[in-house]
Amino acid sequence: MTKLLIIYTGGTIGMVQDASGILVPFDFENITQNVPELKRLDYQLQVISFDPIMDSSNMSPDTWVKIAEMIRDEYAHYDGFVVLHGSDTMAYTASALSFMLENLAKPVVLTGSQLPIGEIRTDAKENLITALEIAASRHADGSPVVPEVCIYFDYRLFRGNRSRKYHSNKFEAFDSPNYPPLAEAGVHLKFNSEDICQPGKASLVVHTRLDARIASLKIFPGITEHTVRAILQSPGLKAIILESFGTGNTCTEGWFVQALKEAIGRGLVILDISQCVGGSVELGRYETSRHLKEMGVLSGHDMTFEAAVTKLMFLLGQEYGRPELERMIEFNLRGELSAGTN
Ligand code: ASP
Repeated sequence: MTKLLIIYTGGTIGMVQDASGILVPFDFENITQNVPELKRLDYQLQVISFDPIMDSSNMSPDTWVKIAEMIRDEYAHYDGFVVLHGSDTMAYTASALSFMLENLAKPVVLTGSQLPIGEIRTDAKENLITALEIAASRHADGSPVVPEVCIYFDYRLFRGNRSRKYHSNKFEAFDSPNYPPLAEAGVHLKFNSEDICQPGKASLVVHTRLDARIASLKIFPGITEHTVRAILQSPGLKAIILESFGTGNTCTEGWFVQALKEAIGRGLVILDISQCVGGSVELGRYETSRHLKEMGVLSGHDMTFEAAVTKLMFLLGQEYGRPELERMIEFNLRGELSAGTN
């Protein structure tokens, strides 16, 4: 019988309203009571629950380490893992886990819901039951169909490090604009096999060292020198995500270029990610990004912001020398960026 481990971290899926009508996390009992169908599934299910249960907005890199360690400790005992998680930071957790779980060969499916499981119109039951089905799906030879960290939400399965929460109210809360869904759930579960990663033979390596000394500089027309310098000069900073326009462009004003050059001179890594949701950074395509390329700003290609944040934390935690660090940042490690983009 297929053995699945559910890791319950919290989120709306299990929440209930307190006396003042505010949604607060509740224990796993609330979920099982509301989904009697779980007993009819032909899988052996075990649950590990966070204590206390968390709203995902309170999560930090320590939480990702905790989840990764739970998966590491139980990896040999289960065929797949379903992580019940708040939707707010689910794309960050999924991206972080994708980097932390090297050589992953079993499904890790994150899911949650927009309405608590006890509400009549809830999306939680379908999300939970189908996430379990996906985690249990195997090819005829017994190998798992989706040996990746992914997010299942509202009838679609996405690669974790390609997804983002794009809507705060719709049931269809996630998408992955630069990568096709890995599966769609209709009458049948239709897997998009050619876009799913296939694992090699190497054993799982779980990385738990993350370095959060990064920041983001989201530019906008009119941003002041004072603001830019305040961010670039934050004490202890090791890397900055430069959230740029279009294909990676910024203004070319002297003070701006100078501030970036000085930051790079002080040893800061600058990674260029586009504010556009779809498409890719192409440094040097316009005059407004040529200066960035020349001074050593790195291209984030078509990575999501969530993938960029967690990739930087992961790579900084590995303590590579500077040239290797820069190479790895631009390299496709876990399917998080499209090879061949500039
Ligand atoms: N605030 C909740 C959380 O992320 C929202 C949700 O679960 O969808 O934990």
